[in-house]
Amino acid sequence: MKKFKVSLLNVKNSGLSIAKCFGLCGIDPLYFKGKKIFVKPNIVFWTSQVNFPKWGVITTSKVVEGVVKYLKECGASDIVIGEGSVLYNPKDKTLQYQAFKGLGYDKLEARYGVKLVSVHDGPFKKVEVDKGIFLKFNEKAVESDVIVDLPVLKTHAQTKVSLGIKNLKGLLDMGSRKKTHSADEKKNLDYIISRFPKVFNEVVTLIDGIYSLERGPSYDGKPYKTDILIGSKDLISADKVGSYILGYEPLEVPHIAHAIEYNNRAIDLSDIEIIGENPDDYRRKYEYDFAYTEDGSMPKPFEKIGIKGLSYPKYDTTLCTYCSGLNGAILTAIARAWKGEPWDDVEILTGKIKEPSYKKTTILIGQCMYKRHKDNKKIKNPIFVKGCPPDPEEINNALKKAGIDVDPNILKNFESLPGLFMQRYKGKKEFDESYFTIE
Ligand code: SF4
Repeated sequence: MKKFKVSLLNVKNSGLSIAKCFGLCGIDPLYFKGKKIFVKPNIVFWTSQVNFPKWGVITTSKVVEGVVKYLKECGASDIVIGEGSVLYNPKDKTLQYQAFKGLGYDKLEARYGVKLVSVHDGPFKKVEVDKGIFLKFNEKAVESDVIVDLPVLKTHAQTKVSLGIKNLKGLLDMGSRKKTHSADEKKNLDYIISRFPKVFNEVVTLIDGIYSLERGPSYDGKPYKTDILIGSKDLISADKVGSYILGYEPLEVPHIAHAIEYNNRAIDLSDIEIIGENPDDYRRKYEYDFAYTEDGSMPKPFEKIGIKGLSYPKYDTTLCTYCSGLNGAILTAIARAWKGEPWDDVEILTGKIKEPSYKKTTILIGQCMYKRHKDNKKIKNPIFVKGCPPDPEEINNALKKAGIDVDPNILKNFESLPGLFMQRYKGKKEFDESYFTIE
């Protein structure tokens, strides 16, 4: 049986050597010669308002720099670094470039002549990823000879892991991203993203495990310093190994399981040769999920502080990134508004498919909830927050109207919230900010 090669490098023992990592998995430097390369880091989120934890959240700039240097030495003809971080304001044309600058990529532009591209600027190419499912991908990425895919080694609250396959979602336009969080039970988020490997000409994956992340994908997860790199010319193999190290057999991760079936691959690691370190020396269970009460009616921390009179059921995979980002701020605002007096039987619903349990008041967040329930006469006192994504100001008003007196600044300034998480890392030397800078 043909075996796909995956390299596993410990950067403490071997140095941060991209050449070594690629060499071990059989990638010859000549492979990149004269090719058009699209480098896709993972900058899942960015704000220029505050410094926020990037460990395990964003691809380290050290890895991005190492890759660009290596590609240059290999004689790649054209190198683009492109990303489409979450934009809460779709008209924002500057945030992506602020992220690139904040991570030092402007130096790569000046030093190596790479082009920095915001995926959001397009143009986009429509691709049929599955029968009848059309998505728009950044054209430069689709037409490049090779995508160098640089995800972070992390788990993900919706897709269990976010590795090479999931990182490619950042190449979609906004409408297509929303579409991937489909309400179709079968052709859901996991199913749709499992089709990504076939969209591109070739994908070389390098999973950045210098820092890894539990309960990702964002700054509220728990990072670890793990000092590994996982490389492969085969995207599915890289993800199988990455997921194994995060504690999940490939079949336990729905989108990898779909990709295995679709591409007729082995259900385990038996079709992979791992070269370098032994994955079992690094493997442990990373939780992916945030804890909710047994009946799923609210997050465990809400129960712990004694919140009563509120039902805020757990997010599902139909909640797309934009509403997801706000969800965290809503939860924080509610937790801080709790003064020990039960609220008056309020329910908050998000995503595309949630059904009410008919409390006294139902807050329905986002355009999707509005469309689904606007004609539902059984809801006694509906408060709709329309918009896609919804306006934080209107969420404030809705919560107030339902008797939950939140501090309006938390939602208004939700992009500053990540700064509060920096406290956790004070005095912890292993969380080194210099990994996200380029000298
Ligand atoms: S309302 Fe929210 S869940 Fe619905 S498409 Fe818009 S961002 Fe996604």
